[in-house]
Amino acid sequence: MLTADRDFLAINDRLENASPQAILRWAVGTFHPRLTMATAFGAEGCCILHMLGEIQPSVHVFNLDTGYQFPETIALREQIRQRYGIEVELVRPDASVAEYESRHGGPLYRIRPDQCCQDRKIGPLRRIVANFDAWISAIRRDQTSHRAQAAAVQWDAKFGLVKINPLLNWTKQDVWSFIIKNSVPYNPLHDQGYPSIGCWPCTRPVAPGEDERAGRWAGKVKKECGLHVIEHEGGSGI
Ligand code: SF4
Repeated sequence: MLTADRDFLAINDRLENASPQAILRWAVGTFHPRLTMATAFGAEGCCILHMLGEIQPSVHVFNLDTGYQFPETIALREQIRQRYGIEVELVRPDASVAEYESRHGGPLYRIRPDQCCQDRKIGPLRRIVANFDAWISAIRRDQTSHRAQAAAVQWDAKFGLVKINPLLNWTKQDVWSFIIKNSVPYNPLHDQGYPSIGCWPCTRPVAPGEDERAGRWAGKVKKECGLHVIEHEGGSGI
């Protein structure tokens, strides 16, 4: 178990230049079955699911099913089950979309997207990860300036468990080379101009040359739903 800053420093020294598969093997050996993975079935997540299929397909995996996902995204869940035998748990908010919108007099994503993400993603995430000691994410360092500061293994004070980022050093090119080489199933929306796919009301295709996350909450300052914004805490944070 990692309990102190020096433990995180030592493991990051060891894993900083390790392959994603080596990082995942370490995570499985250290935390399974108290290890989970969050996936929105993005291209990066599909690469990790392929690796887990080879390393340990019984690792718990979940998807935050906000009720606003694209049908193409939900359809990938069955493809992943058939290809890798990985059953992705759908984690849902307390209220259906109809109940939620009725309660708030309409969709909150238009006027208060931070609250909508809080209610439909962050709250459910907090509840599910309380059952685990570590979670795997598919972020890359080159996606945003905030993600650039992440470490391969870090204490996630926001959710109270260890966070493992096996693809930090990968580029978009690395992701797509892996997908093509291994025929990994992926969301067909990627071929229609959506490099980053979230909920349909908050995702639009991007034009050639635009930043790959420009289509997320387009026209708003918001660029993260809050899942991958690490809060540092004295004692064990990286
Ligand atoms: S991405 Fe948009 S629709 Fe999805 S939870 Fe956040 S604000 Fe709501």
